[in-house]
Amino acid sequence: MTQYVAGIDLGGTNISAIFMDAEGQTHGWVTWPTEAARGPAEVINRIISLTKFLMDKNSITAQQLRGIGLGVPGLVNSREGRSVFSPNLPGWRDIPVAGLVAAGTGVPVLIDNDVRMAAWGEKLLGAGRDREDVICLTLGTGIGAGIFIQDKLYTGRDESAGEIGHVTVEKDGPRCSCGNYGCLEMYASGRGIARRMRAAIAAGAASLVLDLAHGDAGSITAAMVCQAAARGDQAAEQVIKETAVYLGIALAGLANILNPQRIVLGGGVMGAGELLLAPVRRVVRERAMPLNREVEIVAAELGDLAGATGAAAIARKEFMLGEERATWTW
Ligand SMILES: [Zn+2]
Repeated sequence: MTQYVAGIDLGGTNISAIFMDAEGQTHGWVTWPTEAARGPAEVINRIISLTKFLMDKNSITAQQLRGIGLGVPGLVNSREGRSVFSPNLPGWRDIPVAGLVAAGTGVPVLIDNDVRMAAWGEKLLGAGRDREDVICLTLGTGIGAGIFIQDKLYTGRDESAGEIGHVTVEKDGPRCSCGNYGCLEMYASGRGIARRMRAAIAAGAASLVLDLAHGDAGSITAAMVCQAAARGDQAAEQVIKETAVYLGIALAGLANILNPQRIVLGGGVMGAGELLLAPVRRVVRERAMPLNREVEIVAAELGDLAGATGAAAIARKEFMLGEERATWTW
């Protein structure tokens, strides 16, 4: 009887789930809307229903499911299986998610922060798989990172390490939701890119982006900026280049501190592809110390599947192979 684990990625918009077998092969990806506005109890019910739906669909019985790995956005206490606080999920404060999902599905559950789960996906099965010292960034609505040192995830004492989105890159920059000013997230996240594009248009720049947004500057997204830049729109290209400079400054700092072999960049902003990657590499080469500037900077490989895949891979290690989680602990 084939055994499986499930990997689930809980996001502010969607919940995605996937199965993984003992060999590490993935099966049957499904995604549902989160309906986060209905509150934590309803979202947890949806996670449980999605798991059961996926089991039925793939003819997997309760005896075949060994465990679940679950990625949760925001601050997570993985040792206690608790979601401490999640800004994108209304009402999520101090929710014992792991216990609730375990009770609803009848199988053991481990949780971690969604960015770290995506980082695990890339580290074990994606663009970071053949390197020991790897930093995996997710450039989405916000910016986060998973830092691997000698194959182990560095979480810090309070599981709050990897907040590269809140490193200052502009001393007089706009105020960030974290309370600081000029955070990387204000420039290189999806929101930051859209904000700077709107500012350029307000300052008089002509851009195809405004057409893509049907003339409504308020509805400009980072995806539109990437699309216009790919078509040669100069104002959009300028915004992407500037994004690369801010990102490069932060990555050069990271490279100097940690001397990683590889930095993997994923998330929606990477829709810009080489348009963003090439100048980021250049800025890091210009700004980091010799040796540290040799770091490989590559695009992530797993796309939207990274979070669920990483969660499944960690669940497989813990519940199927009986391995201890490879995390630096205190
Ligand atoms: Zn911040």
